[in-house]
Amino acid sequence: MLRLGLTGGIGSGKSTLARMWAARGAAWIDADANARALTAPGGGAIAAIRTQFGEALVDPSGALDRAAMRALVFAQPQARQQLEAIIHPLVGQATAAQAAQAAARGCRVAVFDIPLLVESGHWAQRLDAVAVVDCSAETQIQRTMARSSLERSAVQAIIDAQASRAQRRAAADIVIDNEAPSLAALEAQAEQIAIWLQL
Ligand code: ADP
Repeated sequence: MLRLGLTGGIGSGKSTLARMWAARGAAWIDADANARALTAPGGGAIAAIRTQFGEALVDPSGALDRAAMRALVFAQPQARQQLEAIIHPLVGQATAAQAAQAAARGCRVAVFDIPLLVESGHWAQRLDAVAVVDCSAETQIQRTMARSSLERSAVQAIIDAQASRAQRRAAADIVIDNEAPSLAALEAQAEQIAIWLQL
């Protein structure tokens, strides 16, 4: 099974592209969805979060209290690294288990959708190739604002905190241009790469 990493900035079109490949039979392994599940009520990271940060960081439903966590990270920036030290290894385990299941089902390609692939260096050794979805910051801002309640300044702040376009492109084996405001143009590239991947 080929392990293809897929990354790109917020709103670049990662999930849209992953969905196109999943429709052709690829296994879509979503690192963010795993991270969310681990911090949802009863999630696999909750016990460690309780031990590390105390009961105040777990809400009554048993999920990570995101507002309390944001306040803590604002007051104590090292809390972010402590939270990541809990969550990242668990995300790694969950994605590895999903990849093993996909291989056992006979999938030819697993797409690892990882927003922070370039920022967190440890993924490279687990992947055979890296695909990057690329578009301008302005397009990222327009797409993200259209699908969420985030303001322009909030999206810009997220973009500024992520890897740059140049850093992502430097890490890419394949670059997918998703600047055109057309899903058909993206679909055409998805199709071409799917043929190359023998999907
Ligand atoms: P990401 O997963 O990278 O954050 P998404 O795949 O969720 O980005 O795309 C962000 C938004 O932009 C979605 O609403 C999606 O439908 C839309 N979108 C993505 N690519 C295109 C495109 N080529 N043309 C029009 N809309 C697009």
